Amino acid sequence: MSQDFQWDIGIRCDYLMTLKAGSVTPLRDYFLGIRGSKIEAIKPWNPDVNQSYKEFIHAKNQAVMPGLINGHTHLPMTLLRGLADDEPFHDWLFKTIIPIEGKFVDPDFVRVGTELAALESIRFGVTSLFEMYFYAEACGEVLDQAGLRGYISQAMASFPLPEDEKLGNDKEKVFYQLLERFENHPRLKVALAPHAPYSCDDETLTLATKIAEKTQSRIHIHVSETAQEVKDSQKNYGKTPFKRLYDLGVLQRGAICAHGVHIQKDEFELLKKSGASVIYNPESNMKLGSGIAPIPEYLRHGIPVGLGTDGTASNNDLSIFDAMDVGAKLQKVAHSDNTAMTAPQVLRMATIEGAKALGLEKEIGSLEVGKKADLICVDLEYPHLQPIHDLCSQLVYATKGTEVRNVICDGKILMRDHAITHFDQSAIFEKARSYRDRIQEALRNKTV
Ligand SMILES: [Zn+2]
Repeated sequence: MSQDFQWDIGIRCDYLMTLKAGSVTPLRDYFLGIRGSKIEAIKPWNPDVNQSYKEFIHAKNQAVMPGLINGHTHLPMTLLRGLADDEPFHDWLFKTIIPIEGKFVDPDFVRVGTELAALESIRFGVTSLFEMYFYAEACGEVLDQAGLRGYISQAMASFPLPEDEKLGNDKEKVFYQLLERFENHPRLKVALAPHAPYSCDDETLTLATKIAEKTQSRIHIHVSETAQEVKDSQKNYGKTPFKRLYDLGVLQRGAICAHGVHIQKDEFELLKKSGASVIYNPESNMKLGSGIAPIPEYLRHGIPVGLGTDGTASNNDLSIFDAMDVGAKLQKVAHSDNTAMTAPQVLRMATIEGAKALGLEKEIGSLEVGKKADLICVDLEYPHLQPIHDLCSQLVYATKGTEVRNVICDGKILMRDHAITHFDQSAIFEKARSYRDRIQEALRNKTV
């Protein structure tokens, strides 16, 4: 913090959407003051006060709101975006994605893919995310450099993973190394990511639970994504996926469950009493033909629900603005009821409820004095955003994501007037294109 200025960053907000207590009513012509990493003032703008700022942003015709939260993603998969799209699911996954991952995924792939994803996330106004992939350390290094907040996680499965060759398959050891590396990091936390109940045997899930308990870490896992997964679980284990996770003690570790599309009626209570949460990934569920998660039912049971994009191979972008729009509309279609999910509900999922789902609600998710300065300014000077009758509706149903003009995370400016401050965009595009060339060559020569 500078001693010479009263504020590190001062923002005059034309529209200020705080999401405090879930409110989506914007305040007009307000001032927001940042010192260090925190918000230290929110008050009506007063032009007469002689204040000094290290940085001043006049967010004229802009909506200032909390940075968005992407609760489930696989960042390095940006390098696989658009590959074998619309192939039958089994071919897409087992004939293209997994073989290519097996050949190409290494720390450099993860670094380049995460750089591209961090760039994309910042441009779409995402300031926090939950990341699940391989070589989490390389991913964490990029997120540290990018200035973003969130979780990186240690992948686990009962079969060999692309990282095992370099890191070994002693997941407990690798996790502790990761934990030590990022201990006390101001923005990044480390979690465990057993991939899914169908890819992890009881032994792997028990090990994840044991480590999580010992280190007070969160567990992130895909659950009940497809109907087939539930059917197979009943056949192989005599119980549904959520019930199996409950019996093994996984849910009770504050598990963050991605998808939950095919949850059974009697499983909601298991999540509720375990303190587990769910991440809704509407676009991925639609694109992979998985189904529609019963989100209103989760909400009725008081289970925290956040929004996610999933990886870009199944979305195909990292826009939480898109996820809000599609997520609300999909529920309206599913229930033949246009009130099944409303704009305020999804906006909360992308902010304060998403923060609850990740256990970060004391720090982020709403703009309040004492909370972290994670916020974005959405430029409203576009034909598709005018005129403004209802700002919340505009942000959910009309905003695409590229209108985000300024991004601040942890009190640091990551994007100013559309210019990214921490990264060289063209250098990242160049590296991504080089991976594209190598992947295409391998597909042409049938070496994957
Ligand atoms: Zn996923």
